Amino acid sequence: MAARLPLHRVLLKLSGEAFSDPRVQGGIDPTIVRQVAREVAELQSSDGTELGIVVGGGNIFRGNSPAAAGMDRSSADHMGMLATTINALALQDALEKAGVETRVQTAIAMQELAEPYIRRRAMRHLEKGRVVIFAAGLGVPYFTTDTTAAQRALEIEADAILKGTQVDGVYDRDPKSDPEARRYEHIDFLDVLNQGLKVMDATAISLCMDNALPIVVFELLREGNIRRVVRGDDVGTLVGAAVPVA
Ligand code: UDP
Repeated sequence: MAARLPLHRVLLKLSGEAFSDPRVQGGIDPTIVRQVAREVAELQSSDGTELGIVVGGGNIFRGNSPAAAGMDRSSADHMGMLATTINALALQDALEKAGVETRVQTAIAMQELAEPYIRRRAMRHLEKGRVVIFAAGLGVPYFTTDTTAAQRALEIEADAILKGTQVDGVYDRDPKSDPEARRYEHIDFLDVLNQGLKVMDATAISLCMDNALPIVVFELLREGNIRRVVRGDDVGTLVGAAVPVA
């Protein structure tokens, strides 16, 4: 496989789980949010990488979770989108305290606390070195923040999606229950879909596949990992038909 190339503009996808202590179910752990913010701050100051971040909300609420039983799916999804905004504000606070200039843009207007999502404005922020945090998903129900990540990454012309997770890549079996599980260094989109591997949901994978947008799945909380991915080091799993183009 050809070596990976460094990335200049990336879209980091942080699931709700990235905001909480893995030993505790849900909520926001300020220590973990600060750690993520530190990693992003280091990346910014040393590599000048342009960075958009899509935040999930699963640590607080998901539209298809048992907590939403009996609700209209659309109402429940609106709650989920609000949950992503709570995470976005927590992350913004931590990033600003770590010295990173940020803007939150929401797909549902909340102008008292964030800008509305405007693509051209987001691009301008990125060019000026601000981190743009995209909240409230796509603003419509029945979608996920994985699909939002694919959509926004394409809109801002990112080189790749960086999907930070609790494990260090994509495995052929669940590494937590099977010690024989093997990590892929590289895997095609179609194999992810055909094997039902848990990278991102099928809508998100299809969008990336149709537009040749690579995804790097990597362990978020290992120190220095975001920088390694951005520099093109061989960490995690590269999902895509081709290697990222710088
Ligand atoms: N959501 C939605 N439309 C979107 C993005 C998100 O309705 O475009 C809702 C949906 O209910 C979802 C919740 O927001 O369950 C939180 O997002 P997600 O489950 O993707 O968060 P993550 O799994 O990344 O923590």
